[in-house]
Amino acid sequence: MQNLHDDSDERLILDSVDRFLAQEVAPVAWQLEHDDVYPADIVERMKEMGLFGCLIDPEYGGLGLSTSTYVKIIERMSKVWMSISGIINSHLIMAVCVQRFGTEEQKREFLPRFATGELRGGIALTEPDCGTDLQAIRTVAKKDGDNYVVNGTKMWISNGIEGNCFALLVKTDPQASPRHKGMSLFIAEKGPGFEVSRKLEKLGYKGIDSAELVFQDYRVAADRLIGGAEGRGLQMILGGLELGRINVAARGVGLAQAALDESVKYAQIRKTFGKPIAEHQAIQLKLGDMATRAEASRLLTQRAAEAFDRGERCDMEAGMAKLFATESAVENSIEAMRIHGGYGYSKEYLVERFYRDAPLLVIGEGTNELQRIIIAKQLIERNPA
Ligand SMILES: Cc1cc2nc3c(=O)[nH]c(=O)nc-3n(C[C@H](O)[C@H](O)[C@H](O)COP(=O)(O)OP(=O)(O)OC[C@H]3O[C@@H](n4cnc5c(N)ncnc54)[C@H](O)[C@@H]3O)c2cc1C
Repeated sequence: MQNLHDDSDERLILDSVDRFLAQEVAPVAWQLEHDDVYPADIVERMKEMGLFGCLIDPEYGGLGLSTSTYVKIIERMSKVWMSISGIINSHLIMAVCVQRFGTEEQKREFLPRFATGELRGGIALTEPDCGTDLQAIRTVAKKDGDNYVVNGTKMWISNGIEGNCFALLVKTDPQASPRHKGMSLFIAEKGPGFEVSRKLEKLGYKGIDSAELVFQDYRVAADRLIGGAEGRGLQMILGGLELGRINVAARGVGLAQAALDESVKYAQIRKTFGKPIAEHQAIQLKLGDMATRAEASRLLTQRAAEAFDRGERCDMEAGMAKLFATESAVENSIEAMRIHGGYGYSKEYLVERFYRDAPLLVIGEGTNELQRIIIAKQLIERNPA
């Protein structure tokens, strides 16, 4: 997508996001997170600010921001409370799939409603028996006149309870070889036959709903098949996941930076052996590594976002950013806990939340094992012997 905003527009948007986070999110995040309560008021404000449409083209009612600006918003949100970035992330992966691959009718019908947040999107790919190996999904959509009839179960779906419209990955031809040629992607709105069977409890990433969804003879109109053609679903969603991985990388940057910021503050206040722990070299070594990881993660993420904005294939760049930034978030959150000593293990301090939230990032949007494989395959493809 084109960058429709110059630097001063970007500054205005980032300033208003900063104000919103400081005034309306930071004061309530701790309580909502510990009680695992959906942040309904925050979501309403995010709608008003246009954040649900931030990557949607202005022609369809969105803000038309570049991915480079978007990652700065996500980094800021994640520094304050990572869960709220998840609420717009899978929503926008779905919206961007429709924007990139949908028919003109689908764009006109759905994008304006995604942009206002009237429709709240998500992506329904993972199943109880498979996540990494998406071509093994068992959810089937069978053509029946002007409809498809869907049967199957989806697992771990973010926004599954609060959302109402999902990019649903199915098999339209379970016998196809190669398997991906039998996979298709639908715009699936909630309705008869589409049930939320349970809310899934988690270690962290609280507040945002993760659910199991069951489809039992769920009928979806044939004109909801994204792009109007069967067999391209995996390719479409993998394109969407590049954006998802860049978003997850930006969340990693936010967490890595937040863990560093809390540690820099604490290390100057806490004293041992007559001086602030910040003056002990062992602590300085940690802070130096943490700061370097946060900054390197930010640069990799920005680079991947710029490649995505130019419309280039960027699975390698997105994979590198996701891998490095999320491992940095994990390492920095553990180091922050060590620097805080016993208080790092207390619910009163923020760093225990970072420690619970960070591991999700190495799993979601493709595990980091998978990212290494994607990077290696791309390296080989781009450098034939
Ligand atoms: C909080 C949360 C939110 C989520 N939100 C969504 C969502 O909104 N929509 C959605 O569709 N999914 C969602 N997911 C699911 C997530 O994308 C999957 O959990 C993830 O893709 C991994 O799949 P899996 O859990 O089935 O693990 P598996 O695929 O079973 O993998 C298990 C382990 O084997 C490794 N592995 C697998 N294959 C290989 C290989 N070829 N080589 C080396 N190692 C391999 C993996 O890296 C991992 O370590 C969410 C998950 C969580 C926890």
